[in-house]
Amino acid sequence: IVRRFRESNRKSAEHEQRARKVVPGGTSRATMLQKPFPVYLADARGASVWDLDGNERLDFNNNMLAMIHGHGHPEVVAAVKAQLERTSAFTSVSEREAELAETLCGRVASIDKVTFDNSGTEAVMMAIRLARAYTGRTRILRFEGGYHGFYDPVITGSFSNPPVDAPHDPHPPVRDMAGMPPGVTEDAVLVPYNDAEAVRRVFREQGERLAAVIVEPMLGGGGMIPGLPDFLRTIREESAKTGTVMICDEVITLRFATGGAQEVYGLAPDLTTMGKIIGGGYPVGAVGGRAEIMDLCRPADEGGAVMTMGTFNSNPVTVTAGLATLKLLDKAAIDRLNGLGDRLRKGLSDCIEKRQVPARVTGAASCFDIHFTRREINNARDVATDDEALQQVCSLGLANRGILVSKSRKGGLSTVMDEGIIDRAVEAFDDTLTEMTAEGW
Ligand code: PMP
Repeated sequence: IVRRFRESNRKSAEHEQRARKVVPGGTSRATMLQKPFPVYLADARGASVWDLDGNERLDFNNNMLAMIHGHGHPEVVAAVKAQLERTSAFTSVSEREAELAETLCGRVASIDKVTFDNSGTEAVMMAIRLARAYTGRTRILRFEGGYHGFYDPVITGSFSNPPVDAPHDPHPPVRDMAGMPPGVTEDAVLVPYNDAEAVRRVFREQGERLAAVIVEPMLGGGGMIPGLPDFLRTIREESAKTGTVMICDEVITLRFATGGAQEVYGLAPDLTTMGKIIGGGYPVGAVGGRAEIMDLCRPADEGGAVMTMGTFNSNPVTVTAGLATLKLLDKAAIDRLNGLGDRLRKGLSDCIEKRQVPARVTGAASCFDIHFTRREINNARDVATDDEALQQVCSLGLANRGILVSKSRKGGLSTVMDEGIIDRAVEAFDDTLTEMTAEGW
């Protein structure tokens, strides 16, 4: 599998050597760093991408789930082109900023007001600052395996899942990300995902010290693990009791329904962080939530306390692309997409079942992940039992058969896909498993 990958991706291999000389590791996107080297892409259209060697692959990752309508959707492109002919960034405010904010307020029930920035990371940064300003506290409760971007208070412990039986350490030492100032670990409190009892315990012990609790309704980067309804409900109840701000990180899960995963779960968080699809393929982040908290972003002379700024915040290209994208993403489009997600997860699971191999499929809505373990996957500790070597070989096997996933095989579908495309991915997975077995897995 690895030999075939090397042989058919010679230009990517060569390009990696060049890139490594000037970009540490060969790319600034660590999530794309697969062994023996990443595929470097040159072109894309609809559901397909082409690499430097001209190999076409169906894109099952869609730029970490940002391209919900695939690549170069004609309606998004037309809207963006019209904007680009004027400018990519005005010197003052563009009228479309409020239009995108209105759209998000109209879709997500818990959102009264929105501010925009340029990445999910920045949105989380802003949400945490707002929560700290609102409560006057500093500690942030998070969940093992949660990924909320690379801002200090949310990154510690993100890439080192504890072993299944490890004792619970609410302030794990920073093993996975150097450069943290003192205090960051103390202010970060981590408990296992999907563990309602751990949530009750931590709120009992230190709820009054927690500024915010930040949670993904489905662990995304951590393995596409859906939250258990009781777990998410407990977080809402406990945080309300202690006045802790509940931040629902919907950077990935906003695609679950027009009102995001919070609509599916019936949750009303205080703040919601968004990104990816709301920028229609351009850099974006946004925080939305209760007016009382969001209004801290007003100017100081109007009673605000937290300023929001950025040269490219709510730039007209992103906002235009976001509006065009969300317009296309109505309930019918999402229902269809989620149906394709069900078909894919079932197809992949059937391949595993048929062979009785130690693998598992997780995910929800239009998201999926493939794990190589026999363990049922409910949290990051279960993910720690994954066989990384097998994961790696699997993604190369899929790449050899024209299916692009991330190195960890995570992915998300786009609305330009159809049942035929889903079935091609399932067939590629089936053939990859056959090949992996033949190679002595
Ligand atoms: N939150 C979640 C849930 C994410 O999945 C991500 C990125 N994958 C982020 C925040 C950070 O977003 P960005 O990469 O745009 O900074």
